Amino acid sequence: MPILSQQSKIQQTNEESVMRRKIVVGNWKMNGSLASNEALLKALVEKIPQKISTDIVICAPYPYLFQTQSYLKNSSIRWGAQNVAKFESGAFTGEVSVSMLKEFGASYVIIGHSERSTAYCESDENIATKLMMVKQADMTPILCVGESLIEREAGIMEKVVSKQLDTIVEMYGEDIFDETIIAYEPVWAIGSDMAASPEQAQTMHQFIREKLSPNAKVGKSLKIIYGGSVNPQNALQLFSMPDVDGGLVGRASLNASDFQSICHSAEI
Ligand code: PEP
Repeated sequence: MPILSQQSKIQQTNEESVMRRKIVVGNWKMNGSLASNEALLKALVEKIPQKISTDIVICAPYPYLFQTQSYLKNSSIRWGAQNVAKFESGAFTGEVSVSMLKEFGASYVIIGHSERSTAYCESDENIATKLMMVKQADMTPILCVGESLIEREAGIMEKVVSKQLDTIVEMYGEDIFDETIIAYEPVWAIGSDMAASPEQAQTMHQFIREKLSPNAKVGKSLKIIYGGSVNPQNALQLFSMPDVDGGLVGRASLNASDFQSICHSAEI
């Protein structure tokens, strides 16, 4: 692409990204205790201002959702779950339904995190069903997509992510992505201290946006956040990319100062 049209494309995408409010999601994974959560939640409420132009979300383990809800209720921070059942109710031992989460006041649900799809063999079809159920319950799904290291090295990362999205489109149509947040989480970058470079993230985010953009309803408003070893040192560069609308943050969300610093990077 000629340099001038490339520049105007980046400028155009920059203008579009200005219209999308950024979002930073803390994924606590299976960490915490009543005592450590209390300290962390209190510190976050203290550090994160009431008026903030970024959406901030904490996804805590199920047993601590009630505690999370009560500490965050008068703050600007929203909360959500890290997974949900694909069934509405019944004999599904160990599962938690969308209506249970909704009744408690959850706003967000992470769907298809690679730590779940790998460890529990979750299929793309299961993930699609969960996505639809979360939407039907009027909560916001945070859909994780991303490739493994082998897939990146083979240069098929876009094909892999495309397939993950296609399964959902085939089952429920493109409109399902309206008001859905997509988290691009390259599997090799999660928990590894090897974050994607801002350019790698931008390339994939732009690919995802362009893939789903022909749908006018989803279009340019789709929020695509990056996850994988985001920390206070790399957040600003990642979030400055025109198609990166914030981050999904694991380890660094367990430290109030680090998480606050990452949230601050989304504000700049
Ligand atoms: C995650 O849990 O989704 C994640 C990206 O973890 P980390 O930030 O620790 O790599």
